[in-house]
Amino acid sequence: MSHFRLLILSLLVIGELAISASFAQETFTYQVDYLQEAPQQAISLTTARAMFERGEAKGSDSGLLSFGVGSPAVWVRIKVNNPTDQLIHKRLTTSVTWVNYLDLYQVQANGHVTLRSSGDALARTQELLPGIGIVFNVQLPVGESEFYIRAQAHDPIVLPLQFLSLEDVADSDISSGMLYGILYGILLTLLGYNLILHRSLKQANFVFYAIYIGSFIVLNTGYNGYLFAWVHPNYPLLQNYFTLNIMVLHSVLGLVFSLSFLDVKRHRPKCFKLVLLYIGLGILSILVATVLQWHLLAALVAFSYLSLSTVVMVALGLLHLSLVAKAQHFVLAVSASMLGLFTTAATSAGLIPFTYVGYHAAEFGVLLEAMVLAYILSVALKVKESARLKAEYLAAYDPLTNLLNRRSFFSLASQKIEQHKAEGVPLSLVVMDLDHFKKVNDAYGHHVGDEALKHVANILQNNTRKDDLVGRFGGEEIVILLPKDDCQQASLFTERLRKSLEKTPFASGGMQVYITASFGVVELAGKMALDELIKEADTLLYQAKKNGRNQVASATFSEVSLA
Ligand code: GH3
Ligand code: MG
Ligand code: MG
Repeated sequence: MSHFRLLILSLLVIGELAISASFAQETFTYQVDYLQEAPQQAISLTTARAMFERGEAKGSDSGLLSFGVGSPAVWVRIKVNNPTDQLIHKRLTTSVTWVNYLDLYQVQANGHVTLRSSGDALARTQELLPGIGIVFNVQLPVGESEFYIRAQAHDPIVLPLQFLSLEDVADSDISSGMLYGILYGILLTLLGYNLILHRSLKQANFVFYAIYIGSFIVLNTGYNGYLFAWVHPNYPLLQNYFTLNIMVLHSVLGLVFSLSFLDVKRHRPKCFKLVLLYIGLGILSILVATVLQWHLLAALVAFSYLSLSTVVMVALGLLHLSLVAKAQHFVLAVSASMLGLFTTAATSAGLIPFTYVGYHAAEFGVLLEAMVLAYILSVALKVKESARLKAEYLAAYDPLTNLLNRRSFFSLASQKIEQHKAEGVPLSLVVMDLDHFKKVNDAYGHHVGDEALKHVANILQNNTRKDDLVGRFGGEEIVILLPKDDCQQASLFTERLRKSLEKTPFASGGMQVYITASFGVVELAGKMALDELIKEADTLLYQAKKNGRNQVASATFSEVSLA
């Protein structure tokens, strides 16, 4: 994120010109000198050349120029010597797109001068390649020649000048395209993901976060020239003010997200008010500067506000470490983007050697930040989901026995019955009732009665299949739906169950309590509804009770109706 880098630079080198880094080893040789115009006094090429000749320039063997907010225009002279006997084709690239005016003069040995003008203050500038920078394809004639670059920007700016060979051009174009493809791809995915999460969770955090990411994409595409090239090539003025405003907006959205994510209003109400004040101040300053068209002020506001806001975000995270569980991750995420910013700044300022990764560290930092934040937001989803599952379970199951409750048994069983009717496979239903259960309660107490019910439920769960439905219908009456079983199979199953219950005593306070049950088994036939089926099974259960209990009574529907 180049603007971070520029910001730091603007603080380091306001009004100063610094040169660092270096060109790669080349077949041709060159020498770089630079000088700065006096404020508000543009000079011509002739004047600049004379000044260079008089030795008023500073020499440098490096190609990275940086200058701060409101710096006067800079002239750079590159003296080239091509010792070969052929033209050398190169691309002179600046790696940045945010320069208002960038003029390139090429002076041949015979004094012939060609001028090419570029910069984002000009409409439809051909040399501005989004994501890459302002580039000029140049031919280095045999022998000595000179290039003069005049660069002017209101904003703090870094000009990493490079002569790239045509192969290097292809490489750098591919890696730049890939970098931005990956960057925007991941960020857009996270943006969509958070909007989807918001749809299901209805938490403001997700929307704030999605908008925060969105503003970064707009900012980055603005800064790297994509918006300028694709959206408003005819309105160069938009480029600078728009990007500066988005810088402030992006910071504000980051702060709004932090306030919501850390629930600052609840935990630290005073802090919340202060941040709101700070947000208002940022918006007001950039609006005033924009409306009055004070570009210098707008640039100063935007750059300082952006950096200060990341510091505020980290500070907010640190203030909530002991109050909010996820604050730790938050600090980690926001620090990642700050660390990236400092690395990029240090690279641009020449404090550490210039590398591609170092130069783009701020963008990698933002990616890391986005991924960590998306992770912690998704943890919230997991927590909510498990709460939902728990609530769903509580609504569907009987708390004492963990069997389906009456309502959920009814709804699940009705679905199975519909399925059965559609597929034409058999299905049976069993109603069971514990024998003389009142006596268990009377003899051992209600609590033991409860334990006995759990014991019975366990036996049922151990003996039924995955597709069977077992529900507590009330008291000690239980219903079992056996899909795919006809009456005979269901009766055999129920008989096994009865025996298992009969021979498995229930231990309580050193005593062994034997429990039995009576059963009614019915197979579904025709267009019977679930309640009719239960009624039929109940009739059979009553017969089983009447015939002496601890037994299974069964019949198909037709037999029952005949009886
Ligand atoms: P029968 O063989 O005719 O079914 O005799 P029974 O004593 O089991 O009579 P019935 O089924 O009519 O009585 C059910 C008894 O079950 C009534 C109540 O005391 C007991 N009961 C119902 N629900 C619970 C419960 O949740 N916990 C306990 N401990 N007892 C329950
Ligand atoms: Mg009973
Ligand atoms: Mg009963």
